[in-house]
Amino acid sequence: TAKQRGKAGYVRYVDGMGEPVLAHMQLGGELRRALDNDEFRVVYQPIVRLDCNRVIGVEALVRWHHPTRGLVSPADFIPAAERTGLIVPLGRFVLRETCRQAAAWLAELGPDALREAGLNVSARQLHDPDFVSDVAAALADSGLPCERLVLEVTESAVLRGQQVSRALYELDRMGIRLALDDFGTGESSLSLLRAFPASIVKLDKSFVDGIEIDDGQPAAADARQAVARAVSQLARALGLDTVAEGIESPEQVAALLELGYTVGQGFYLAEPMTADSVSRLLALQARVPEETRKVSRTRG
Ligand code: C2E
Ligand code: MG
Ligand code: MG
Ligand code: MG
Repeated sequence: TAKQRGKAGYVRYVDGMGEPVLAHMQLGGELRRALDNDEFRVVYQPIVRLDCNRVIGVEALVRWHHPTRGLVSPADFIPAAERTGLIVPLGRFVLRETCRQAAAWLAELGPDALREAGLNVSARQLHDPDFVSDVAAALADSGLPCERLVLEVTESAVLRGQQVSRALYELDRMGIRLALDDFGTGESSLSLLRAFPASIVKLDKSFVDGIEIDDGQPAAADARQAVARAVSQLARALGLDTVAEGIESPEQVAALLELGYTVGQGFYLAEPMTADSVSRLLALQARVPEETRKVSRTRG
């Protein structure tokens, strides 16, 4: 029935929508071919301390270099990859690549080069009975210590059943850190924080957008500030780290520092970049002692 198909996640594309079905099937086939053809690459967006601009981590983001269509955004193919199940081998590729790269940075630049590397995991991957052992194997093969790996999951992914929570608890037991991604956009953020072994909360970009606008009116900015403050206070009370997402201006940095955030991510701080660019950034940073950086920033 339609309901059962809905659970599998592709009903929207079945009932009386001929064209999307075709597009969907074509994209599915293309993804398979692209994976075999080595068309996927991983870029890394720095995660930065807001008080001194120091890079403390990265988030791995997948990119598809299509031979004719050029660079395809994950927003345009991750949903299809999830529906077709291809997210499992694609996600495994991102996992292995990220672990390998993070271990290489640490070997090259020392243990203080960066604290952790994160990557996104979709619900479909958490449902895969091999997921936990894939993660264990990626860590073992790369030599990356488990506490250096962050797996980002969204609230909706976490809410999907037994298999998923078992996987999450096993990963937590292994010492891997779990981040709740796009926090605040889901349906039951608060109860989830209590029930789920999260270490990090990533405040969604929608709360950061416009957070700096303070015109004294009890308008949207004030509501966003209230949510952002409540999330940072709650996270602190629960012993969780926070990351503010999608920071696009220095005014937002100032507002977020005020609201209790010390770590952030966004185009204003650093855009997603190749591993080579991250290497250069980390190498540069490793040569500048932390204190000097703080002082020079205060002066400038
Ligand atoms: P996400 O995990 O929330 O990742 C953050 C997204 O916000 C990235 O988009 C990043 O480029 C973008 N972003 C970062 N800073 C800013 C900013 O200041 N302004 C704006 N406008 N955007 C910013 P991207 O790379 O296009 O990825 C989109 C989403 O696709 C990700 O959202 C994630 O849910 C998914 N995704 C990306 N890579 C993977 C992957 O390897 N596996 C899975 N399962 N999902 C992935
Ligand atoms: Mg993410
Ligand atoms: Mg996010
Ligand atoms: Mg997001």
